[in-house]
Amino acid sequence: MTRRHQQTMSPFEGVNYMFDQAADRLGLDGGMRHLLKMPYRELQVEVPIYRDDGSLEVFQGYRVQHDAARGPYKGGIRYHHEVNLDEVRALASLMTWKTALVDVPFGGAKGGVACDARSLSAAELERLTRRFTQRIWLILGPNRDIPAPDLNTNSQVMAWMMDEYGKRYGHTPSIVTGKPIELGGSRCREAATGEGVSITAQDAMRAIGLAEDRARVAIQGFGNVGSFAAQFLHDAGCRVVAVSDVHGAVHDPDGLDVPALREQGSGHMPLAGRSAATGRAISNAELLELDCEVLIPAAVGHVIHAGNAARIRARLVVEAANSPVVPAVDPILEENGVVIVPDILANAGGVTVSYFEWVQNLQQFPWDEDHIHKELHARMNAACEQVREVASREKVSARLAAYMIAVDAVSRARTLRGI
Ligand code: GLU
Repeated sequence: MTRRHQQTMSPFEGVNYMFDQAADRLGLDGGMRHLLKMPYRELQVEVPIYRDDGSLEVFQGYRVQHDAARGPYKGGIRYHHEVNLDEVRALASLMTWKTALVDVPFGGAKGGVACDARSLSAAELERLTRRFTQRIWLILGPNRDIPAPDLNTNSQVMAWMMDEYGKRYGHTPSIVTGKPIELGGSRCREAATGEGVSITAQDAMRAIGLAEDRARVAIQGFGNVGSFAAQFLHDAGCRVVAVSDVHGAVHDPDGLDVPALREQGSGHMPLAGRSAATGRAISNAELLELDCEVLIPAAVGHVIHAGNAARIRARLVVEAANSPVVPAVDPILEENGVVIVPDILANAGGVTVSYFEWVQNLQQFPWDEDHIHKELHARMNAACEQVREVASREKVSARLAAYMIAVDAVSRARTLRGI
């Protein structure tokens, strides 16, 4: 593969670029390679709704089920204007590797609707969610495929999905995770992806000998994942020096008041309008190139690419978003001594607590917060340790080590099951 091709890879090609390297190292044969690479099933649907002004609009929706050798398909639903089949495929595949890496008994799936979520009213969002649920419910089920929140979806969207599914199949809390606690959601689920980012960042900091009180952290994206990651790292003693939203970033070398910034964020107020946004306004692009120890891209994919990779100054890049680093530029970061905590490890905290939620729903027995934190830490730390161990034994990057562990686990499960 030429360097030029690597830089123009689609999201799905990007994931498979890593998959192929892992499969080569594991010696997977052609048939198994094809089976594990390509999704099991892809559903594309038209989602018609009446807008508030009475006009009819039709959105494009997708659910891709990638692999279920290790358990039911699992993965979020995103509402974003860039959603397309290739991207959903890539994200479904990432879920397969993520669930295998942290050893939760799920496969991988992803769904989405191509829409500008911000331009939809709450009533329109509800109609869209209910219609989309009807269009895909044939392939869902608590033992088949379990959605969760993702970009621009949240516990309210999950509540509507559960309610709509229940009209057809009867009350089924375990059909979605990331629900409101009142409806059977798990404690700590909302914060879980951010907490997992913080756990893996701290693990990587320990590995490179960086103490929390010496770590300046820059976070791109201050949504659910970025803002909780900021809070956990702030609580751990790190200095969060920059955060951003879609409008831009703020940079305060003395450290931002993260709790105040979060508190002022209700109603999605832009960062720039919050009085706690001290320091200097900078762009999202500038944030990525800041002088800091820990950089956490927590927004969309492919933000670190050939055009800026050489200018990344952080010692650690913790991938809270999915695929924030174009795969072809990993070597540039590595050459510059930047350590990457790969997405399938860094952001696996969400699906891990989703698993706990599913277990609680099936058992009809809620867990307390201490138990959830303890289980989450244990699983995330075990995965970090395993990645480090394989990376040093095989002399490969953390990303390739993570893929090798995951692809090995899924191919073993598939071989044991048969086809
Ligand atoms: N959307 C989250 C992810 O990409 C969570 C998925 C889940 O909990 O099923 O990992």
